[in-house]
Formats: sequence, C-alpha cells, structure tokens
Amino acid sequence: MKTANGMVVSMHYTLTDDSGTTIDSSAGREPLTYLHGYGNIIPGLEAALEGNEAGFKSRIDVAASEGYGERDANAVFEAPREQFPDDMDVTPGTRVFADGPNGPIPFTIMEVTESNVKLDANHPLAGMDLHFDIEILAVRAATDEEISHGHVHDGSHDHEH
Ligand code: ZN
Repeated sequence: MKTANGMVVSMHYTLTDDSGTTIDSSAGREPLTYLHGYGNIIPGLEAALEGNEAGFKSRIDVAASEGYGERDANAVFEAPREQFPDDMDVTPGTRVFADGPNGPIPFTIMEVTESNVKLDANHPLAGMDLHFDIEILAVRAATDEEISHGHVHDGSHDHEH
C-alpha cells in the first residue's frame, strides 16, 4: 500500500539540524504512526512521504517554510517578572504555558532580568531547515473512526471521544 490521504503510516525517523546534531529520533522507541493528509506532521515531510510504501528509506530535507515556519520577531515580547508565580521555574530555556482560547500556549523563556522576562512564542524549531532520515515500516488504510477524528487510534495514547 502506498502513502496517500486517509492512510495510516508507521515510520522511524531521525531529525537533525544543519550541523548534523540530532534533535529528535524514534530510534529505540515505538515508531511514529500518523494519519496521512490531515496535517498531523509538518507539510514538507508529509509531501515527501506521499506515494511511498513500506521499506522506503530516504533522507528528506525540509526548508523552514515547509517545516515549523519562519521565526516571527513579533512573537518575542517582555512581561513583568511579578506576573510569574514565585514557585515557577523562570530561567532561560524553560518552556512555560499560558492559558489560551484553544488550550495552553507554549512559550520559551529567553532572558530574565530583575523586572522583566523576555518570552518567545515561536516554535523551538521555527526558522530551522530540518533533515529527516526516515524509513516507512507499514502503511494501512485508516478506519472510518480515525478518518472522522483526523488522527490515528493505535492505543499509544488515550483520549476522550
Ligand atoms: Zn480520536
């Protein structure tokens, strides 16, 4: 079976940056399983996997614009230090979450001064060209329920329906 919209794809992947440093990998873990054609993975990777079947191995280079997008300078801003609870870990590099209309919004703390905290709402991988070494392990047709939900039901995560 070939990867196409409405197919469930299992694959192993290793993600590296331009310098060859590994950012993330499924090696030694369960493979990544996703429903193809529903935006569950970044656009550049999804497009490159289209039409391939189990056994397909490839190096896939994804430009930032087809990955997590370019960095948005407007997404960096400062907030008063006093707005952060005393028991919160407010150190550079820490990911924090604010309540948003569609769930928590993640921020990365960039700088901390006595009075201010500089925050970055960009995805940590925004602005980066990404390099994936992938191997497709299996491709199957999704169930009707998976199609209607837009994601895979493989037992690896429980959620309310
Ligand atoms: Zn579901």
